[in-house]
Amino acid sequence: MTDRREVGLAVVGAGPAGLAAATAAAEAGAAVVVVDQASHAGGQIWRHRDRNALPEAARARLARFEASGAEHLSGAAVVDAAPGRLSVVTDRGPLLIDAHAIVLATGARELFLPFPGWTLPNVLGVGGLQALIKSGLNVAGKRVVIAGSGPLLLPVAATAAGHGAEVVAVCEQAPLARVAAFAAGLWRAPAKLADAARYRRAARGARFRTGWWIARAEGSAAVERVTLTDGRREWRVPCDLVAAAAGLVPNVELGAALGCRIADGALAVDRDQRTSVPAVFAAGECTGVGGEDLAILEGEMAGLAAIGRPVGALHAARDRAGAMVALIARAFAPRAELLRRADADTVVCRCEDVRMGQLDPAWGARQAKLATRAGMGACQGRVCGAALERMVGWPAGTVRPPLSPARVSDLAALSGNGG
Ligand SMILES: Cc1cc2nc3c(=O)[nH]c(=O)nc-3n(C[C@H](O)[C@H](O)[C@H](O)COP(=O)(O)OP(=O)(O)OC[C@H]3O[C@@H](n4cnc5c(N)ncnc54)[C@H](O)[C@@H]3O)c2cc1C
Repeated sequence: MTDRREVGLAVVGAGPAGLAAATAAAEAGAAVVVVDQASHAGGQIWRHRDRNALPEAARARLARFEASGAEHLSGAAVVDAAPGRLSVVTDRGPLLIDAHAIVLATGARELFLPFPGWTLPNVLGVGGLQALIKSGLNVAGKRVVIAGSGPLLLPVAATAAGHGAEVVAVCEQAPLARVAAFAAGLWRAPAKLADAARYRRAARGARFRTGWWIARAEGSAAVERVTLTDGRREWRVPCDLVAAAAGLVPNVELGAALGCRIADGALAVDRDQRTSVPAVFAAGECTGVGGEDLAILEGEMAGLAAIGRPVGALHAARDRAGAMVALIARAFAPRAELLRRADADTVVCRCEDVRMGQLDPAWGARQAKLATRAGMGACQGRVCGAALERMVGWPAGTVRPPLSPARVSDLAALSGNGG
């Protein structure tokens, strides 16, 4: 049995962007439903924490959303979409949502570039470690190495140190000159520089290095040490936990299923957050990685534009905050050495256990799927596709519906009802 709903605006994603879109549209009188596969509202940055532990501004955002009249469907994954319609699977069964307009606020995920040992237990993503600590992972007394790229490294180091971890090393792969250029580009956002200084102080026992990255991780049952390098020297560091990711990649799969144009790996939008498909808007990190403040502004614009309200007054603020996308992309682009770390024995596709040596660079992604099943597991190539695109130049290709694992009975019920 498939439930059906009809709304003015359907928002996919209850992170900062989706919540801002829904709040703005609902406060303006629209019937709004927000769908998110997670069990709590707040997206990657807010949902893992006890509400009382959130910054005041985040608590205010969540309270305003709750008072707006927008409905939040948690534990609800959008598995397919067509303009005007979302096919959703929930804990309570399948659901079809017909909407006059859709806002995509599907966020970003971490970019994992394989190196020997990256699949050992206790090697995590950088944002992944942050999320686990916020959800209660006990890191007290654990030796932690954080090595990757981008503005997330410092807050994660501060969180780990604040929860009693011994943060041994924080390594940013970008060279010092690029990190310095990034910091100089923040002159319009002095609060961000103050935050960075605060995070740095919170993890002051750690050694911070720029231009260093992980060459390999080793251990038997779990990671025991990493070897870091700057390309000339090596530094072996004993550790219990490693957080390693090379930045974030926009989640564009749902937009691609709707036929939205993608540019530079992100959903392409115009100045009012319209995608290339009529009545489909997008906001936040699925349109480019630029942080929370930008996600909120874009969400507000997308929500208002989607119900036909003017957004011109927000253009200037959005343009100022939007400068962050280019700054991050320029400063923290993965260096070539990160793309060459996998040896023949390194697992590239974790879902299907495919190693680098099984892949022929002369193939394309499709041939690799046919020959080895790389990219055909539960994550549908979201991890290895993004990595192989950078490592061997295979375009990541599109993810086919269902966009996330779903019961066959739910899919049959949805398709029997036109979903
Ligand atoms: C693992 C991780 C941890 C991070 N931690 C921090 C942090 O601690 N501090 C910080 O400043 N920044 C953090 N970031 C960056 C942060 O994501 C952004 O700055 C900000 O949250 C972006 O907001 P958003 O609304 O665009 O996306 P998100 O907050 O990512 O929200 C997107 C939402 O869409 C939902 N979604 C996606 N696809 C579907 C679908 N098909 N069906 C239903 N729901 C769907 C997701 O469940 C998610 O809740 C983190 C990023 C990642 C990937």
